Amino acid sequence: MALNLSEKTWLEKRLEMIQRYEEEEKRQDFINESEIWHILERKAHSEPSEVREVLAKARELKGLSPEDTAVLISIRDPELLEELFATAFWIKNQVYGNRIVLFAPLYVSSPCVNNCVYCGFRHTNEAVEKRTLTMEELAQEIRAITKVGHKRVLAVFGEHPDSDADYICRSLQTIYATKHGRDEIRRANVNAAPMTVEEFRAIKDMGIGTYQIFQETYHHETFRRMHPAGTLKHSYKWRLFALHRAQEAEIDDVAIGVLFGLFDWRFEVLGLLYHAIDLEREFGIGPHTISFPRLEPALNTPFTTGSPYLVSDEEIKKIIAILRCAVPYTGLILTARERPELRRELIRLGVSQTDAGSRIAVGGYSEMEKEHILDRQQFMINDTRSLDEFIYDLCQDGYIPSFCTAGYRAGRTGCHFMEFAKKGLVRNFCIPNAILTFKEYLLDYASPRTRELGNQVIEQYLQEVESRLPYIAAKVREYLKRMEEGERDLYV
Ligand code: SF4
Repeated sequence: MALNLSEKTWLEKRLEMIQRYEEEEKRQDFINESEIWHILERKAHSEPSEVREVLAKARELKGLSPEDTAVLISIRDPELLEELFATAFWIKNQVYGNRIVLFAPLYVSSPCVNNCVYCGFRHTNEAVEKRTLTMEELAQEIRAITKVGHKRVLAVFGEHPDSDADYICRSLQTIYATKHGRDEIRRANVNAAPMTVEEFRAIKDMGIGTYQIFQETYHHETFRRMHPAGTLKHSYKWRLFALHRAQEAEIDDVAIGVLFGLFDWRFEVLGLLYHAIDLEREFGIGPHTISFPRLEPALNTPFTTGSPYLVSDEEIKKIIAILRCAVPYTGLILTARERPELRRELIRLGVSQTDAGSRIAVGGYSEMEKEHILDRQQFMINDTRSLDEFIYDLCQDGYIPSFCTAGYRAGRTGCHFMEFAKKGLVRNFCIPNAILTFKEYLLDYASPRTRELGNQVIEQYLQEVESRLPYIAAKVREYLKRMEEGERDLYV
């Protein structure tokens, strides 16, 4: 289907604006392809002793250089692979402890003027019905999400005149304003197309949590092939520096990612690392999180199953472990694209956040009983467990689920968060706050079996806090008592 007149006019104006930006932007593209290939080739046959040296360095928690990361990428030997996994697991526990932050992805709009080869929402894909929620429909989605206990959403928007910066601002207002009894969203993160600094300022003023955008692929030629000429997403530079512009607008929690399966994963891992390094160089702070979604089938989208670069289960395990070693203080986000049994393994390797109880069709939470609405989804997900089932399984594996948003509301974002993380305070504050927010969940939303198991998990974690930080543990016990008596939203 061709674009209508108003879509075309909007697109042309944005294209002109992007062209001006490309001419004026002084920043240098930091993805040097020949350098990346050179590093990968030079380290392709690293000796076991070099691998072990890098793993020892990773345990110093100072992060790894691209060269060191390439040494880990070269691992093939099963014994060394196990050592890599053990190191990643150790780092995760040192920095984050055994807590997993939970959120709900919220698809707010799907019409899009772009035509990305791999995407079910691409403009020419008539097999998928596109929708933009009205503010009333959005409020209805928020009621469905918060009714089961979520406190944090990742709101996702297509690139279209009907879901421009102004619409995103109104959506954030609606998300925060929709409250019912104890049900509310306390942190709304946003995944949306690149914007100007002024547009980013407007959404910052609406209380955005993290701004997330994926480069999809760092390989220039592949990027141009996946995002056809004449579309907004064709501009590599406009997208590459979107997070720099967001930082200029003082959105200091920014998140990067790659869609694994578009190009060689080894190249993409180093691309992610160079992106993190460049943000840190210019703003003194790297990305808050990294995502590593794999290409999943989408309706009428043959590329998703035919790409020559599809990433295997073994490779995604390796990717996560390498990232955990390379950027120890950056959160790693796993999604419900992965199957339950694999998610369990991947979480061990360094994941700090994941979604649960997800519905990814636009308007999907209001039709919660339908696990998939294929002709309204961007792609397929493989884990449709409810939030309560997911939490029960997490508890059985010894994790403590967290709905905490205290860091964000106490100003522990951006540089402040990193300072905080580097001093090991994530474990000291985040575990207590995980306990408190999990208790809220158990009191207000959990099934009887999850409540019973969850209370045991809380007691076990409290004892652990008591042994290290008796003063904080006493405070948490006092807050838990106040929560039993009806108070909510208490945090340390
Ligand atoms: S990937 Fe994003 S930008 Fe591309 S068509 Fe899909 S929704 Fe639009």
